[in-house]
Amino acid sequence: MCWVHLKQLGERFLSWGSTRRTGERSSPKPMLIHTGKQELWLVPSGNGKIKLSQHFSHNEFECRCGCMEGLVSTELVEVLQTVRYGVRAPLTITSGIRCKKHNTAVGGAKSSWHVPRNGVSYAADITYLRDEDRTDYNVLRLWVLADMAGAKGIGLYANPGRVHIDVRPTGRVRWIDKSWREKT
Ligand SMILES: [Zn+2]
Repeated sequence: MCWVHLKQLGERFLSWGSTRRTGERSSPKPMLIHTGKQELWLVPSGNGKIKLSQHFSHNEFECRCGCMEGLVSTELVEVLQTVRYGVRAPLTITSGIRCKKHNTAVGGAKSSWHVPRNGVSYAADITYLRDEDRTDYNVLRLWVLADMAGAKGIGLYANPGRVHIDVRPTGRVRWIDKSWREKT
């Protein structure tokens, strides 16, 4: 499992940080974060958000209860970014990191990959930001692109039409949720 070596991550953030629109040359201040056994360098993008890839920031993945627990697997971010490049439309994360308490509150599976293991979360549910983009066809495009990008777990859900994507280290899983099977 890779969630990116310290140096590699630092360099990547620095290159993104330097392409800010403002034209300023101010270099973002790197920040060292400890997650379980790992040490990670994160570089803020200048707008108070920590950028993880061209289209995703850390705040989008944060646990909805506000606990700020965990970090996102960079392998997952890579898959999501590939999906984003494929659909060429704004996406939104409906559920990212979930602490145990929040996972229980939203009825998540006990062994959900949303819940951090060693401080790292391996799952995110995504859909289109714009309501009008959430057609069955478009939601299925998310599935196809996630599959192409090497996602390990992919699940299809309705209301709103969305796709669960994870990079679990234990193998390939595909499922269609009851909400999608029974939707009219
Ligand atoms: Zn939480």
